[in-house]
Amino acid sequence: MSQKVRVRFAPSPTGPLHIGGVRTALFNYLFAKKHEGDFVLRIEDTDQTRYVEGAEDYIVEALNWLNIPYDEGPGKEGDAGPYRQSERKGLYREYADKLLASGNAYYAFDTAEELAEKRAEHEAQKETFIYNWHNREELNNSLALSEEETKQKIESGEPYVIRFKAPANEELDLQDEIRGEIQVNTKVLDDKVLFKSDGMPTYHLANIVDDHLMKITHVIRGEEWLPSLALHVLLYRAFGWEAPKFAHLPLILKPTGKGKLSKRDGDKLGFPVFPLEWKDPKTGDIASGYREDGYLPQTVLNMLVFLGWNEGEGSEKEIYTLEELTKAFSLAHVSKGGSKFDPEKTKWFQQQHLHNATDESLVSGFQAILKEKRFDVDDAYVKQVIHLVKDRAVFIADLWEQGNFFFERPSSYDEKAAKKAWKEDTGTIMTSLSKIISETEDFTAQNLSTNVKGWIQNEGLGFGKVMQPLRLSLVGSMSGPDVFDIAATIGKAKTLERIRFAIETL
Ligand code: GLU
Repeated sequence: MSQKVRVRFAPSPTGPLHIGGVRTALFNYLFAKKHEGDFVLRIEDTDQTRYVEGAEDYIVEALNWLNIPYDEGPGKEGDAGPYRQSERKGLYREYADKLLASGNAYYAFDTAEELAEKRAEHEAQKETFIYNWHNREELNNSLALSEEETKQKIESGEPYVIRFKAPANEELDLQDEIRGEIQVNTKVLDDKVLFKSDGMPTYHLANIVDDHLMKITHVIRGEEWLPSLALHVLLYRAFGWEAPKFAHLPLILKPTGKGKLSKRDGDKLGFPVFPLEWKDPKTGDIASGYREDGYLPQTVLNMLVFLGWNEGEGSEKEIYTLEELTKAFSLAHVSKGGSKFDPEKTKWFQQQHLHNATDESLVSGFQAILKEKRFDVDDAYVKQVIHLVKDRAVFIADLWEQGNFFFERPSSYDEKAAKKAWKEDTGTIMTSLSKIISETEDFTAQNLSTNVKGWIQNEGLGFGKVMQPLRLSLVGSMSGPDVFDIAATIGKAKTLERIRFAIETL
């Protein structure tokens, strides 16, 4: 039997999750579900200086809102926990020691000042300083010092880091599930710090140890981690562990295609780059989110999946449910090149998904808006309204724009429409119409339509002369769904009251 697929999303809680991070989470989720595997959330919080209050909660809330929950992670303990690296602190040193013992790592005592000086010297020569095979024996570390000297320094409490000893000159054939074969010569690699003087592992060590201990089979992450691939593969080899498969996702580009999409682009063009609204705990600044801007989670997922994936040649399908994506997704159809973010297309996705959404699923979103406006209406009524106006809306907030008259009497009448629809004899006609309406016992749109239309015909009145002022009375303008549907929904009493009010006002 083949190994169970296990993937992880491993964000650092340094702020709100950018939509690029959400896409990484989504691709991991889809890959896991497609292969009936596990989707793990691991919080990489070893760098306490970059820790931001509330960021982890934000990540969890975003994944839940998007309906791509993790199977294991903080608050959902599995066999591989704990899932916060800060809670795993105690276990990394042992692994650094293993690499020291096998000669794959060494102690380095160079102070920050010494290294800064080296860097400055190199910069003055227009060179970059790299700490590796070509100079390590001249620097302040256990490879340059005698065993005795090294021991003394450590015993006297001199601060040190542990560095990886990258091979000097080896051609590595790396494999990426999206990019294919990638060749790297180790001579360009630096001897990365694995363990810091403060007793904490660096990202590289913690990430590899955890992926191994958590039995991760596929590492799916952003392109910005591609330069670390060689080091990571070398670390697996040094430990004698089988490496997972790697897939590096393409960048998400600005709408112009020039450079990586940033928060600034979003601010400039007026679209969110975060799934949920985020309030910066320090500055109090608010960054907008898709949820608060009225997008549906399925819109965000559909928009994101196309930033780097498509079902393959010949497929013109653009609207996918999460379930369909889970079936269709494959890494083989993820592109290598960056994908341009397109805010207009995102709106189009939203329109399609709102249209496809069940009335039921939109109730709570619309209720939130109604509550804010202090309307206390039951869900069944709200659902009925949604049914009638949904096709005219793009965002949930549009449901209010399109359907406010279901909740309150029009406070004014569209001037142009009133001029056109309300003539001298309209008052009299509306009074007679009120009688017909009031005599309609079973107050359904169908019955009402039959009675009113029959009456119009009998009286030889002409359709527009009745229907337009009726619409104006109920809606306040000439817009909205079928007028009999409106009347049946608000009910007989309100329909009559609105007609009376219009007669008095107009
Ligand atoms: N903690 C890294 C990040 O914030 C994880 C990178 C990886 O997936 O290996 O993106």
